[in-house]
Amino acid sequence: MKAMLKYLLIVLLTSSNLLIASRTQIIDSVSIYQNLSQYNIKIHNYEKATLFATKALQFSQKTKNYESQIQQNFALGKLYFDLNRINEAQNYFEQSRLLNTKRPVTFCKLKTLYFLAFCAIEKKEWTNAASYFAQADQLPIATSIQNKANVLLLKKAKLYYSNNQLTVASENFTRLLAQTNFENEKNIIEEAYLYKGMIALRYTKYKDALDMLEKALNINRITKNLKSKESILLHLSKCHKGLRNFDQAYSYLEEYHLLKMHLAEISNSKQNIENFKKFKRDEQYKDFIDKNKQQQKEEDAHKYSKLINILAVALITILSLLSFSLYKNNIIRNESNKLLKEKNQELIIAKNNAEKASKARAEFLSTVSHELRTPLNAINGITHLLLEEKPKKSQLNYLASLQFSGNYLATFINEILEINKIESNKIELESISFHLKELLENIQSSLNKFALTNNNEFHLLFDQNIPDYLIGDPTKLSQVFLNLINNALKFTQDGSVTIKVKLLKKEEDTVKINFQIIDTGIGIPKDKLELVFENFSQGSVEINRKYGGTGLGLTIVKKLVKVLGGKIKLESEEGKGSTFSFSLPFKVAESLVETTEKETNYDENQFKSKKILLVEDNKINQMITKKMLENKGIVCIIIDNGESAVQLMHNHDYDLVLMDVHLPGINGTVATQEIRTFDTSTPIIALTAISLDENREMLLSYGMNDVITKPFVPEEFYTIISKYLPN
Ligand code: ADP
Repeated sequence: MKAMLKYLLIVLLTSSNLLIASRTQIIDSVSIYQNLSQYNIKIHNYEKATLFATKALQFSQKTKNYESQIQQNFALGKLYFDLNRINEAQNYFEQSRLLNTKRPVTFCKLKTLYFLAFCAIEKKEWTNAASYFAQADQLPIATSIQNKANVLLLKKAKLYYSNNQLTVASENFTRLLAQTNFENEKNIIEEAYLYKGMIALRYTKYKDALDMLEKALNINRITKNLKSKESILLHLSKCHKGLRNFDQAYSYLEEYHLLKMHLAEISNSKQNIENFKKFKRDEQYKDFIDKNKQQQKEEDAHKYSKLINILAVALITILSLLSFSLYKNNIIRNESNKLLKEKNQELIIAKNNAEKASKARAEFLSTVSHELRTPLNAINGITHLLLEEKPKKSQLNYLASLQFSGNYLATFINEILEINKIESNKIELESISFHLKELLENIQSSLNKFALTNNNEFHLLFDQNIPDYLIGDPTKLSQVFLNLINNALKFTQDGSVTIKVKLLKKEEDTVKINFQIIDTGIGIPKDKLELVFENFSQGSVEINRKYGGTGLGLTIVKKLVKVLGGKIKLESEEGKGSTFSFSLPFKVAESLVETTEKETNYDENQFKSKKILLVEDNKINQMITKKMLENKGIVCIIIDNGESAVQLMHNHDYDLVLMDVHLPGINGTVATQEIRTFDTSTPIIALTAISLDENREMLLSYGMNDVITKPFVPEEFYTIISKYLPN
């Protein structure tokens, strides 16, 4: 950047030099026009002379050169004065005088005042003329430049004489004679005597006149000025005539005529010579103009080549600067790239570490919950068995508490597993057709009892424009509704809970539906609105004490709604109620496709005398499952490893196999695979505390027919078994 500025400074300096150069050029032009004007005066071409003088003045005005303007104005004034164009002359002299007022006294200033006086005299403005003369005489230069001033004084006196101001004229001639130097100014003295003689003659003072004229004639012998002599002779003749010396008068008159004739002759021949000279001068003038033009052209060419050189240098400098900055930028970019690569590498490592940590956490949670599920299965199973064995009334309360705690723990573990699954992106969405209205009505009827416990009205407002069958994941959807409606009913007492379902948009085979779960319950404080969606977050300790819960429901809801393609929103006012809402897209289905809906009904008789092989290594689970099966009249054979199970299957017939997945030695999946090589008909049902990496589809792919998750929910356990037992 600094370099750039420096460069700009150089360019500016260069261009200012150019300006100075072109300014010199203009001054040069003034002197050229001045020369041209003077040359034309010399050859009496006054038209061109005025033209060039005017141009010289215009140039000096353009450059605001006052000194030059003063001189050009005076030169033009003088030209017009010589051409007897007094008004124009007066104008230019006045301009020159005005420009000169505040400047040091120069000879030009003195001359201007004199010529202004002469102009005034020409116009017979005597007072003005006198004033200009007075101003000129006051200038200190008037005496110091005596010689030139005497010429002017002579002119002044002659002009007074011409205007018949004989007294003033005579005074001036006397002053002139007093201050002239004979050696250098013989011409002036000669003329002064001639005029003094002529003035005396006008006053008929013949003797005085004779005296003056004879003095003039004497000096004329030295100056040999024929023109002047002509006048002296004529006036001497007049003088002698007045003094009645007729001989003398005649003699001077004769001499005068002879001289006049002689001068006329000279004038004629002079005219011819003048004509020739004029021709020569015109030729020279042409040359001069051509030379000037040529010079101007050369100067222009020189100027342009100079300009081109400067521009070329500037261009090269710009290009070098640009290349340099590009080079520097490149270096900086390379360094930044290197830095970015390093940072990227660090970020990739950090990301991998984070992923590893997250995976480790997920696996840890999966293992812990799996390990918890097995003993929990024992607790829940034994509680169930004890409750079925008609316990004492006092024991019933304890067993009920035990069942509640067991169920709570099971829900908790299931929820943790669910969150873990969603966060690890292991969740799989179903895409099956379902009847939305029926699904919501089923949820409503299953929760009606709960609504009554809290004395709540419970409504479902369903938009009739919504198509009957949609394609989606009804299980996940039910999970969301159950959580939200359950909360709404739980946190509302003597109020109402409404499920509003509205069609937002319908396009060919897709719809967008808005769901609202509105309650008039306790509401949520403003500062908790965001917080309630976080893991383990509950409104307050009091709420936890009063209403229970795990604080994981809304976390699951939020994540599930996102997975389903929506975003959960919450509006709530403390004491007035809450509204949870979200919109989801669905595809429209033609009809209901067969679903894997679980039936909850089974026939007790179906179980009687059936033979089931239980492959399970955990002793407690062996005991519970066996007991649950025997309770229904089923014969249960237990084996604790996969290899033996395969052997047994070779030699015996069973109605069904319950296969634990995690076994010592070969696990349940491998054992099933081996059995399926020789027996494809016996139903095999997996028993698993499903961990993260096991899912239904995976287990079925080994040849299993169904899956029962631990801890068992007894009803579900029996329903599934009944599905596969022969009638
Ligand atoms: P919990 O199992 O404790 O209900 P949730 O994640 O479902 O956990 O809810 C978290 C907290 O949000 C609840 O403890 C409660 O304070 C608040 N909450 C959820 N739903 C409602 C509602 N409908 N009305 C009032 N508060 C609610």
